[in-house]
Amino acid sequence: NQLLQKLSVTDGLTGLYNRSKLDMILVDQLARFKRNNRPFCLLMIDIDYFKQINDELGHIMGDKILMTVSTVLLKSIRAIDYAARYGGDEFMIILTETDMDAAIKTAERIRTQASALCQAFDASPVKISLSVGIAQSQHSDIMPNDLIARADAALYEAKKAGRDQVKIDCGRALST
Ligand code: GH3
Ligand code: MG
Repeated sequence: NQLLQKLSVTDGLTGLYNRSKLDMILVDQLARFKRNNRPFCLLMIDIDYFKQINDELGHIMGDKILMTVSTVLLKSIRAIDYAARYGGDEFMIILTETDMDAAIKTAERIRTQASALCQAFDASPVKISLSVGIAQSQHSDIMPNDLIARADAALYEAKKAGRDQVKIDCGRALST
């Protein structure tokens, strides 16, 4: 039973939380935020040009890189944070009780560590880089998707600006 429960919240390849568990965590975190007024941040992280890496090096090496990136994420967060694989080459991190300034520091640490990663394959090194979008919880957030959409928009800005960088949601905050 315990094993089944673990499997139902875990991504098979990386061992991180899966998308449905991430949604549950976000619902819980939003409720906490509304009670205690302490913000949390969501990092949306996507591997740059992963399709090309897969095409050039093959799916097995691609899988290995997904696992390596997962390890970097887990090593960069605290025991009270959460890391999930959202799908494909996209990951999410929830930094609990963390404001934007602190979240940027963590995101930059993750980005720097990933870009230092080179995986030897057939004697040719693979350059890995990550783009990151960050959103901070707002009182106007009702559903997980409200927060996810802002992190996604920031990630899109990071990709558009040339990748291998961190961008923050510039807060289309509905001040109430
Ligand atoms: P961008 O810099 O814009 O993010 O470009 P990208 O190539 O990373 O973006 P895209 O989303 O098109 O590519 C993601 C690729 O991830 C496509 C798919 O083949 C690959 N992929 C998805 N899931 C897996 C997986 O479980 N294992 C491996 N090896 N590849 C996967
Ligand atoms: Mg990608």
